[in-house]
This record gives sequence, C-alpha cells and structure tokens, in this order.
Amino acid sequence: MTYPESKVEIVRAMEYTKNQEHLDTDETKYKISRKKKLQERCLIGVLTIICCTLIVILIVTFKSGHHPISQNCLIKDNERVFKNNTIKFIHWSDIHYDPFYNETVPSKFFCRQQLALESDNYLAPYGRIGCDSPLNLLENTLNAMKNITEDEEIKFMLLTGDLSGHRMWTNFSGADKVLDNIAIVSSKVHSTFPKIPVFPVIGNNDLPGHYVLPNSTSDWYKKLLTFWSPLILCSGCPGYTRNLIRERVLQETFLEGGYYNTSIADGKIVALALNSLYWSVAVERSVETDRKAVDTYSEKAYWFSNYTDVYVTIVARNYSNLIIGQFFAHTHKDDYRLHSFSSNISFSQHDPLMSFLLLAPAISPVYHNNPAFRMLSLDVEKLSLIDFTQYFMDLVMATEFSNPVWQLDYTFSEKYKSSNPFIDAERINELNQQLLNQTSNKFWKSYVFSRETNYQPMKYSRFTLYCAMRFVHFQSFQQCRKKYIVPGG
Ligand SMILES: [Zn+2]
Repeated sequence: MTYPESKVEIVRAMEYTKNQEHLDTDETKYKISRKKKLQERCLIGVLTIICCTLIVILIVTFKSGHHPISQNCLIKDNERVFKNNTIKFIHWSDIHYDPFYNETVPSKFFCRQQLALESDNYLAPYGRIGCDSPLNLLENTLNAMKNITEDEEIKFMLLTGDLSGHRMWTNFSGADKVLDNIAIVSSKVHSTFPKIPVFPVIGNNDLPGHYVLPNSTSDWYKKLLTFWSPLILCSGCPGYTRNLIRERVLQETFLEGGYYNTSIADGKIVALALNSLYWSVAVERSVETDRKAVDTYSEKAYWFSNYTDVYVTIVARNYSNLIIGQFFAHTHKDDYRLHSFSSNISFSQHDPLMSFLLLAPAISPVYHNNPAFRMLSLDVEKLSLIDFTQYFMDLVMATEFSNPVWQLDYTFSEKYKSSNPFIDAERINELNQQLLNQTSNKFWKSYVFSRETNYQPMKYSRFTLYCAMRFVHFQSFQQCRKKYIVPGG
C-alpha cells in the first residue's frame, strides 16, 4: 500500500472520496457558508454514516496544505512551518485507575483491602503485577511523560480508553465510582499537560456497566464530556476562546455516540476518535455465537464480522491512501495488526489493499506487563508516521528498590531495521514476514519479548502470533493456523 507521497495525491484522494461515496444528504446543508466544517464532514461523514461508532483513533489526512480540495471542501493555506516537518505526540492507554488499591494486599485479592484475607510480605506503592493502577502509578507516569518530553514539542496526546479500573461492579462500588475514576484521571492529565490537547476515547471499563452501553435516556456521555471537553478542546491552550464552534461539533457527535473528530497539525490532519463498543460482541451477549473477528489471537473476536468487513473495506480498500495511522489498544499488549483483502494465506509480497494498526501497551500492570507509553513522530509534509520511541517502568525493580525509574524501552526504527523510512502497512508486513525468518531470529525475539513490555513473556505460539497479526478475518486466521501445525515458538 502506498500512502500519499505528495499533496497532489491527497487532492486526488479527497476528490475520490467526495465523488465516489454517497455522502449523507444532510451534508449539503453545510455547503455554502461553513467551508471548513464541511471539509471535516467530507471525511467524517463517510466514516460515520457507514460505520456508526468505534473505539479507536484514526489519523487521516485532512487537508492538502496549499491546494484547494474541491469547491465545497476549500481549505485555507497552511503557512506554518514545522520543525523538520515533524510533529510528535504521545499514545498511552488502559490506565485502569483503581481507587481501592492497597499497597499491602497481594494480587490474589486484586490488591483491595475489601477482599483481602492476608497481607503480602512486601509493599507495592507504585503498582503490583496482577492488579490495576494506584493513583501513585498514574501520577508517576504523568511525571515521567512530562520529564521525558521536556525538550520535545508534543502537539497532542491520544488516550485510548479504559481510564477506570476493572471490577467496579461490586457491593462497595458502581457506576458513580466509574465516573469518579474517569474524572480524577482526566483532571490529573489536564493539570499535568494543560497546554496540550488530549484526545480520549471510551473503553469497555468506562461505561455505566461492564460492556453496557448508555441507553437513550442516559446522560453518561454528557457526564464524560464534562470531564473531557477541557482536554479535547484544550482549555489551557492559547486561542481556546475561539473553540466555541468546535465545542458545538464535539457535542453533536459525542452526545450521540461517544465519538468525535478533531483537527491536528494546524488543520492539516484530522483525528477520528471512534467508539467501537457499538461493534463489540461482548456488548451483545445474546448473540455472542457470531464471533468472527477482529483480534484473532486467543481465537476470540472482539467485533461482529459484519462490522469488521465494513471497517476493513474502509481502511484497507476505500481510504487506505488517506489514513496515516490507526491507534488501537484494549489488549494491553505492544502489538501490530494488518488489515488485508487478500484471502491467499501464502502471499508474502506487499498487498496493495492493506492497512495497518498500532496497538499500545497498558499503564495498568494487571495482565502481567510493565507500564509503558510511547512518543510518536509524524511527518506532516509527507503525511506519514516516521517512528516511535517507547518508555517503560520495570515494576519489580521499582518495588524492590522503592525507586520508580522510567527508562527507554526501544525506538521502532532501531529495533525493526528496514530500508523503508516510514511506519506503514508495507513496514508492518515486513515485520510480520520476518517473524518466520529461518536464518535470523532477531525480529521474532524482539517482538515476542516486547509484548509484555519487558516483564516475563507469556508462553506463545509463534504461528498463532504470526497469523493473528496478519489476518483479522476469523476464517482467514483459521486457514493460516491450519497451515502451520507445529506448536511452540
Ligand atoms: Zn484495558
């Protein structure tokens, strides 16, 4: 797959979008006077009309710099020059703040005094493997982010869901506590980074029940928006008062379904923050038998197959040349996925109809992983992801020596060396193919030991990981698994 290499290609892509898709007739209401708003609609409309809502953040090319896109999608010249044409942003996820965390309680009681029958023989003030995050870990992470990015000009932050902890549906907790948790995390993030827009999305633990979506009479989204508006609109940024129109647009979509769009890179790029819980198999327990995709590792699908089909059609076929990146989470693993239209499992070459996504590791150590976050670089001239650097805290060492230290984990371009200077589908395809390289174990070792962000790796099947990264459609994944029969790795 090729991403736009020049502004001209983006213009073409945008015109294709406009001409080929049946945009909602409501869009025409915006045609004359609200050119910039319409421009957003040209993109967001296509996605939301077909798809409703999602849990991921997509970053797509929004406008083409100095070129008008079309009569209705006319854009203003972008005159700002970025340093080296590169902007940086942070992606972190799955904080799972647990207000009931107790540093003396072992993980078999989920580190909660209410459940504990005994104390552990050591204290774990910064978090404990197997439990969710104490406030201490959240604050420590934010301080580390601030220190590490001190000399960087971070433009924005993606926070991909699950701000609240697990197991909030107990006799000592409930929906109000979930809202409290989200409010506390949001407030801490905003006070640490008051001058950076932060784009959060809703995770399955940020709902009025576990995997329970708000009904039409619920004011859940309204409450979330009161916590998140200052972050998304960046109330501490210069020019906040000019954001009144943006606030109306944000309310329109967020109150409808917990999704929104926003422009970044001085309007050159749009970020679509989606709510994929509407596609979730787990939300609709009654029809749970139809589990066909989208995360195929452990043979468990998260989305209904019909939604997966539409989503993959959009990102891998219709708009792959517009999408710069897809930023997912929820699995608590440092990982990658390819979206492909090819049903031929033996292909090793680059499929032109292919898209990719990056899965961020978690802050919560609940799934036996170290806390980690990453800082990404995006070339706003070439409209491509260039690289990312990941940082982590070794929680065992931090606990043993009562000293929480954040350290460099790796830089993608150095860990997975390639002649391709970008992070794109071709590059992730290369990584995927290298997992089965018989003459060098380098990529495989790097990849598999990264998944738990330097905590002890789980037992993995090499071929299951290879197939899961390559095929999000369940049938193709199964075909791939049948091809490789030797277990282990
Ligand atoms: Zn989570």
